[in-house]
Amino acid sequence: MKRVHNFSAGPAMIPQEVLEKARRELLCYGDSGMSVMEMSHRSSDYKPIIERAESLLRELLGVDKSYKILFLQGGATQQFSQIPMNLLTGSGRADYIESGNFAQKAAKEASRYGKVQIVASSAADAYNHVPSWKQEDFDPQADYFHITTNNTIFGTRFTEIPETGDVPLVADMSSNILAEDYDFSKFSLIYAGAQKNIGPSGVTVVIVKEDILKKEPLPFTPSIMNYHTMIKEGSMYNTPSTYSIYVAMLVFEWIIDQGGIPAMKKLAEKRAAILYDTLDQSRLFKGTSAKKDRSLMNITFITGDTERDNRFVAEAKEEGLVNLKGHRLVGGIRASIYNAMPIDGVEALADFMKRFEKKG
Ligand SMILES: *Cc1c(COP(=O)(O)O)cnc(C)c1O
Repeated sequence: MKRVHNFSAGPAMIPQEVLEKARRELLCYGDSGMSVMEMSHRSSDYKPIIERAESLLRELLGVDKSYKILFLQGGATQQFSQIPMNLLTGSGRADYIESGNFAQKAAKEASRYGKVQIVASSAADAYNHVPSWKQEDFDPQADYFHITTNNTIFGTRFTEIPETGDVPLVADMSSNILAEDYDFSKFSLIYAGAQKNIGPSGVTVVIVKEDILKKEPLPFTPSIMNYHTMIKEGSMYNTPSTYSIYVAMLVFEWIIDQGGIPAMKKLAEKRAAILYDTLDQSRLFKGTSAKKDRSLMNITFITGDTERDNRFVAEAKEEGLVNLKGHRLVGGIRASIYNAMPIDGVEALADFMKRFEKKG
């Protein structure tokens, strides 16, 4: 068995130590006599798992009890509608920054339930940067303000967070949660699909400040989409994604062992610097995102020739460097390097890029 260097954008790598621990516990968890997969979500064996996942995530983010932590299903995409259904209950208006394809989808979905203002957009430049915004364009009566902190497809990230005053700030952190340090108390709602930086797909983390949920959701909101219901039931209104939550718990333990978010951020900067330095010194490869907004998680680049890009991806695969093809919307090459990617994986890729360039 030989494990490859996996640059997948998601589902993505999981730390090897976590996989090994999950394997050790696969058949029999503790003295339960069964696999976590086989447990009732309401059993006394499972309850400590979800509770521990929650408390470790709370510790990692440093958020207090005024925030509720939920483990939901439906991916980040479900949140594109769950958020407006629950929050568009005042003025019925929301502000969005359109910094990428997922941000655009989120705004479009919200517009089914209320009035969406696009405060700033980089769509005209194929989302190659994070658009700048003007404070005076913000709607002070908006029910919330939505951003996407890391743009997975285009390889950009917010380096500054908008000041939204009394308007609750909502962030899709699917692709950089637990890799970058923020003052999380600035956010009223944070959500992330697990499959990039948290664990297996099938669970979505929602961290929500309870005081923004004063009102009931829009009247047609299904119970399963109602945050109040999910909070009341401790994410167990129905059967949650039990095994994914267990693996997420192991990942949270692993991150804490490594030194928490500050350590993850340092590593992320180191990994990204190796690849961006290689790009900047290359005469063949060209980064596709604006330097000031370069993502630490998704490194996007091209050679300028689609056929050569494809050859690069194919030859890299032969060396055990896999999933380097850019997103189907944009093509080119993308290396996704989340928390679980070891430095030597990135070094192997940089080395391969240099050899590919020399060979021509
Ligand atoms: C992957 C991703 C999504 C979509 O996530 P699903 O879990 O597939 O719904 C949304 N937003 C961002 C920023 C992402 O990276």
